[in-house]
Amino acid sequence: MEITEQGVDGFVQPTECVDEFKHKYRLLKEIARGGQGAVYRTHAPRLVIKLELSDHRFVQASKAARDKYLSLRLLPIPKDLPITLPLAVLEKYSGYVMRLMDDMISFRDAFNCNGDDAPIENEWLENIATQNQNIAIICCNLIKHGGMRRFWQAYMKTACLLARLHEVGLVYCDFSANNVFISDSQEFCNVWLIDADNLDFEENTCQHRVWTPGIGAPEIIDEYVAKGCTFYSDCYAFAATLFQQLTHHHPFEGELFDEQVEELDDIVQVEYLRDCGEYPWVFDTTDDSNIWSGDGDFYQNLIPPRLMALLNETFSAEEGLFHKQRRPSMAEWAYSLARSLDETVRCPKCQMERYGKKTVCPWCDHEHPLLTITSYSQNGEIWWQLAHEIELGQNISIPLRLVNGFKVREIDEVAFTMQWTANGIYIHKTKESLSIEFADRKMGRVAASGFETTEDTLYIYCLGNGNTAKRIEVRLIK
Ligand SMILES: [Zn+2]
Repeated sequence: MEITEQGVDGFVQPTECVDEFKHKYRLLKEIARGGQGAVYRTHAPRLVIKLELSDHRFVQASKAARDKYLSLRLLPIPKDLPITLPLAVLEKYSGYVMRLMDDMISFRDAFNCNGDDAPIENEWLENIATQNQNIAIICCNLIKHGGMRRFWQAYMKTACLLARLHEVGLVYCDFSANNVFISDSQEFCNVWLIDADNLDFEENTCQHRVWTPGIGAPEIIDEYVAKGCTFYSDCYAFAATLFQQLTHHHPFEGELFDEQVEELDDIVQVEYLRDCGEYPWVFDTTDDSNIWSGDGDFYQNLIPPRLMALLNETFSAEEGLFHKQRRPSMAEWAYSLARSLDETVRCPKCQMERYGKKTVCPWCDHEHPLLTITSYSQNGEIWWQLAHEIELGQNISIPLRLVNGFKVREIDEVAFTMQWTANGIYIHKTKESLSIEFADRKMGRVAASGFETTEDTLYIYCLGNGNTAKRIEVRLIK
């Protein structure tokens, strides 16, 4: 949306703002809008402006707002956390200047379902479109946005970010797809949280009810309960946003919801009841009265069981819906998203994705080579699994979590790179601190930084953090 003097709702939007240091900013495109404010690009590279909104009107500057923004800088936010904070407070309007890379877009823009986009040329999609146009649009949209792999990676990084805020005692309060940004280019997956206005210690946030319509926790929305923001309400908003961005559907809009819309003829009231938890969630395993028929079946196949379990623990009335302490924590979400991400395999023919070690695509029946890596703990139990499609010459980075286990501070760290060459498998160690030995069936164990074998299976013996040796099996399934 471009900025005009006459705003969309008939009130004046500023075209220019001045900060406390007398720097002038020309407002350009609006890049995000929530209930409490809007964010604009400015003529200055990498600087954006947040303006506070109340009842769809821009709020004038006040000492209270200024103190609130400036006090954010005093919170114990880890220095390496990608979260934007106020650089300078504005003079006339309640708002501030913050830093945001130019090549980042909101999750809302990154994962929105836009059926008008030009279709991807894909034989399988064309075939699906003749049977079910809606599913074809959903799949086309998913492929265009980088598929499940990009989606899980983006949400895993977000979960790590929120987990680290929770770790130091801070509640974010108003998580939504408008407040988290991702690299525009699909080559990168940098994730930033913006709009930290409500960030504070839980003892303070629990006195305020802040939410984005449709994704707030029921204890905040329900007037009779009227609790404030907590770690648990952050976890709820995260799960609700993830579900809605993935399925483009509200988690509580099923058959019962539709009936109520018709019977009561009062959408505001029915949506309020929905957000208070009056209807079961659409994939509830114990109550199917509000089931999501139609496209729901498709998503039940698309969402891996370990993530479906976390959604159920958040939304089921018997679990976390009314018992907030039972909701999965951000650390649990981050771990399960990483497990799912590492097991995601993309079919090179139809571009659709699946999980696990099968070499045949369940969507289009195409068979293709697969790399599987399994790390075992000392007592022989499976510790972590990775599966990835592979082509001759392709390089694949193997995350450090296969050796060290999942750590929110190590999500981008790589242990090995692996290449399938004309001579077989070539593995090269990239993490300096790892102590490793390689072995295949012919050779004994060899301590080296790289290893090549003509065998389709090789073993790596790794000494990661904490001196726990891991046996890692690498298999090429052709
Ligand atoms: Zn396929």
